[in-house]
Amino acid sequence: MTPTGPTVLEIDLDAVAANWRALAARHPSGPVAGVVKADAYGLGASLVVPRLCREGCRHFFTAHLAEAVAIRALAPGATIAVLNGLWPEQAGEYVAWDLLPVLGSLGEIDAWAAQARRLGRELPALLHIDTGMNRLGLPAREVDALADDPRRLAGIAPRFVMTHLAASEILDDPANEAQRSRFARACARLPAAPRSLANSSGMFLDGFGSDLARPGAALYGINPTPGRPNPMRPTVRLLARVLQMREIAAGEGVGYNATWTASRSSRIATVAIGYADGYPRALSGRALAFFDGHPVPLVGRVSMDLATFDVTDHPAIGPGACLELIGPHAPPDELAARAGTNGYEILTSLGRRHARHHLGA
Ligand SMILES: *Cc1c(COP(=O)(O)O)cnc(C)c1O
Repeated sequence: MTPTGPTVLEIDLDAVAANWRALAARHPSGPVAGVVKADAYGLGASLVVPRLCREGCRHFFTAHLAEAVAIRALAPGATIAVLNGLWPEQAGEYVAWDLLPVLGSLGEIDAWAAQARRLGRELPALLHIDTGMNRLGLPAREVDALADDPRRLAGIAPRFVMTHLAASEILDDPANEAQRSRFARACARLPAAPRSLANSSGMFLDGFGSDLARPGAALYGINPTPGRPNPMRPTVRLLARVLQMREIAAGEGVGYNATWTASRSSRIATVAIGYADGYPRALSGRALAFFDGHPVPLVGRVSMDLATFDVTDHPAIGPGACLELIGPHAPPDELAARAGTNGYEILTSLGRRHARHHLGA
């Protein structure tokens, strides 16, 4: 790596592609989509989407309509669906851009059916059933209403009926089976359509195959099987350069409020990474960076643009040296555990001011 800025974010699109192929191989019951909301979990949808298309991915999911519009031209012919559902006033935009709303309430169904009537043709959509998350999707009583009056779907071509698992990363959580059976019961009452069930972790549960899997996190290297070895390839490396070195005496403090004090004379490397770059302040005093594979402890507070590391034991580290903050040695999941969050939040928080290098674009 030749750093072109104080921080470099390497994004390995070959690894994303390999992860998608590995997931596709585990899901013989139907195709595997790419969930690319939040700018492909921070990696950059504008490069991830074309790469997944090249691998054969034909279904994409975003959270927002604007995200779907932004990738429409990058995935010609692919199905692009918007998870957060339909605002009635956006119906025309969905049609204009050939996007599918994921309909999660009777109100949204009525609005999409009205749009179909206005245009005098069928409009495709996904139906989202709430099977226990109590967040989005048709609740049981709206499924009942729809089952009693299926004409409400007139003009709507349901491409998939889907639900979303709330605890799929926990193998033996009884919620998984409860959601699966509620989903099966709901689908049986609605007009027949292909089904979409598993997110990343759901794909690693037995019996959760469907007509369309919807992984996001695992594509980007987050471990879909927490507590067990990560079957996915890492996709990002975040590197930051040392700006300055300090030699300090025992008893001296480092950073805001001197939350760390040297217990011996120490060499401190100040690195160009801070919480504004997605390196969480909650990591203060509890993370490791890596130099040539050797761990160096983060000391003191993470500030907005800077962080400090104790490199006393590594005389080779000096100004301009590169530390790996996220990568194979410091996976997003592990950093997340130290910061009290999850790998998803680490990836989607990756800042905008890193020099981005893409491998395999
Ligand atoms: C985000 C999301 C996914 C992808 O989940 P991962 O855990 O990242 O695989 C799938 N389905 C829905 C409805 C989502 O919101």
